[in-house]
Amino acid sequence: IAQPISNAALVFGGSRGIGAAIARRLAREGHPVALTYVSRPDNAAEVVAAIQAGGGQAIAIQADSADAEAIAAAVEQAVAHFGPLQVAVVNAGIYDSSPLADFRTEVLDRMLAVNVRGVFLALQSAAAAMNEGGRLITIGSNTAVRAGVVGSSVYAMTKAAVATLVRELALDLAPRRITINNIQPGPIETDITTDFIDYLVQRNPMGRVGQPDEVAGLAAWLASREASYMTGSSLTIDGGWVI
Ligand code: NDP
Repeated sequence: IAQPISNAALVFGGSRGIGAAIARRLAREGHPVALTYVSRPDNAAEVVAAIQAGGGQAIAIQADSADAEAIAAAVEQAVAHFGPLQVAVVNAGIYDSSPLADFRTEVLDRMLAVNVRGVFLALQSAAAAMNEGGRLITIGSNTAVRAGVVGSSVYAMTKAAVATLVRELALDLAPRRITINNIQPGPIETDITTDFIDYLVQRNPMGRVGQPDEVAGLAAWLASREASYMTGSSLTIDGGWVI
């Protein structure tokens, strides 16, 4: 008799912004959801409560994506609660900007640690705990393919690394029918964009920024059975943002 396949989802960085919208959306699609956060337990608890209020299952796990052991422990805890992973979304990421001459090495190192090293480690741990036919999704950025915000060079570099990583890991994962794809959002209204939202609205051809739920819709499709033949791709969702 075939064992029922676990439908568990794990969202790295699921307590605010785009990650929280994805966590809530995956719960609505019927996934029990584990989400990680690093610094704001209250926000994480709010997302868990909202999912539970809607009849879903959710847990929050504190795990800094710059910490390899914390990432491995988060995957272990998610699997202990909800079973092997069907979906993992690597959303945790940080933005900082500075002109070249003033760019501080500590900031460079932290962005590489979370946005690149942390993404690789999360994918590695999640893939090891994943069902055959599972879904890995990363959140990159349209800055990997479009310039336009001065001072964002290091951030853009980290997101270009994610796109390339995803393209190559698709080959490792294909024999297990696990797909891996990268969503590249353009400006989305979250805490990251609060300080320069007016600039972003003015520069966007649509005259607005995106909402986290618009990204969550794409993530839900990539997580679904329908997306079975898409892998290694980066999908830009940015309102047509150009320089
Ligand atoms: P927010 O700052 O609103 O939320 C970030 C989320 O990631 C929070 O849940 C935060 O947890 C978590 N997080 C941050 N650092 C870590 C860490 N070291 N370990 C674990 N979790 C962490 O960001 P957005 O929703 O705007 O961005 C989400 C992703 O989307 C990022 O990768 C970002 O680069 C990308 N992106 C965003 C765009 C935008 O315009 N907003 C555009 C393009 C890409 P906590 O609350 O505990 O801090």
